[in-house]
Amino acid sequence: MFKFLEKVITESKTPVLPPEYAQWDTFNSLFQHTSEIKSALANFAKGDLDLRVVKKGATTGNLKAILANLSHLAWQFKVAAQGDFSHTVDFMGEFSDAFNMMTTNLARHEKEISEKQQQLAFMAEELKKEIRHRDMVEAALKESENNYRNLALHDPLTKIYNRSYFSEAGAREVEITRRRGDELCLLMMDLDKFKRFNDTFGHLSGDAALIHITRIVQEIQRKTDIFARFGGEEFVLLLPQTPFSGGKIIAEKLRAEIASRRDPAPNTSEPITISIGLASLTQKEALKESSSEAILRDLIARADEALYDAKKVGGNCVCYFTPATEAPPTLT
Ligand code: GH3
Ligand code: MG
Ligand code: MG
Repeated sequence: MFKFLEKVITESKTPVLPPEYAQWDTFNSLFQHTSEIKSALANFAKGDLDLRVVKKGATTGNLKAILANLSHLAWQFKVAAQGDFSHTVDFMGEFSDAFNMMTTNLARHEKEISEKQQQLAFMAEELKKEIRHRDMVEAALKESENNYRNLALHDPLTKIYNRSYFSEAGAREVEITRRRGDELCLLMMDLDKFKRFNDTFGHLSGDAALIHITRIVQEIQRKTDIFARFGGEEFVLLLPQTPFSGGKIIAEKLRAEIASRRDPAPNTSEPITISIGLASLTQKEALKESSSEAILRDLIARADEALYDAKKVGGNCVCYFTPATEAPPTLT
């Protein structure tokens, strides 16, 4: 009987209860209870925590307590897996200690990660601010650079190009004209008896008259023409792709238009007139070996000479410097 009971406990497959033992109620009950606990332990070993033991008793009670603790621990793990590390367990000795250590460490790591994330977010915000600041500084620098470039290339009173810009752009235009093999004209303009105008009406009226003249020229010039203030009351107008004959027409149109206006400046009674010296760059001259800058200088000198002629005959007229092959200069 004891041998049979030993087999029930030690062998994995529970033997069938022989009928001669079954008649003993106490032994039968002991066999049933042992079998149930054995089967429950086997299920437990496979991970089944659902205890199906009918018989009550200390062993069943202890087994129930272990399974209840394990079920509770499983729930604790689930909670921890969802990110809640606030729970601790205290019912399973070393196992509880290990679990508690794990949740404590996880909570600490989570806190550290969260602090690092906050630091990173702060740094990212600071970086964004820095970038915004740099963008603003860069834009302001660009603007002031543009302003300086504008100042460097424009005349502050009339806002048209200055002589420095004209020298650069004019030489470029001469170069283009040479490559294209066509002609261009240059008009040198000077206000007549402007000193007297200033003396009579004051320098502020003189300034207004200078602006007035530039606006008239701007109304008449083409977009591709280069108009600049050359000096005090002298202006230059470069007419690309324009033959000598076309230059004469434009020069005369400008002179006549300015002379026809009666309002050069507020509270002035005298009209302003201008004299114009015209010089043209013919294809033949463009083919010279000289640099474009030298050709432009030569063109300016010839227009200046023609302007001097215009002044000599009393102003308010156009004179032109014709190439040697053409007829001598005639005055309008
Ligand atoms: P001409 O007919 O021979 O050209 O005589 P002009 O009086 O025009 O020539 P002159 O060279 O004797 O005088 C030029 C005047 O232009 C003298 C100067 O005060 C004036 N001027 C030059 N720049 C400015 C300016 O920006 N504003 C004013 N109001 N006057 C200026
Ligand atoms: Mg002058
Ligand atoms: Mg003058």
